[in-house]
Amino acid sequence: MPWRNRPSELFPMFLEAAQDVRMFILQENGPSKFVVEEPGRLKYKVEIGNSVKCSCGGGVTEHCIHIVHTLFLVSAKFRRYTSCSRSSDSSPTTR
Ligand SMILES: [Zn+2]
Repeated sequence: MPWRNRPSELFPMFLEAAQDVRMFILQENGPSKFVVEEPGRLKYKVEIGNSVKCSCGGGVTEHCIHIVHTLFLVSAKFRRYTSCSRSSDSSPTTR
């Protein structure tokens, strides 16, 4: 699915569903390819880049929960990186 400037009307539903699901990144195949697993269930290959896709078939017309969840996990990781290099963000009084 190509880049969108606005989330679709369905997107908040997926966002909510993704927060209820426990998933973890099993494998990182490069900076934008991930294998995620729902514990005790199937594994899915999620690709995040100029276009976003998932091996469950999601990402064609709408993101699936695997994509949304992967974005959550990846953005959390990214925040950790940036908070290390820009520690002043967490303490605005130090200028
Ligand atoms: Zn999926």
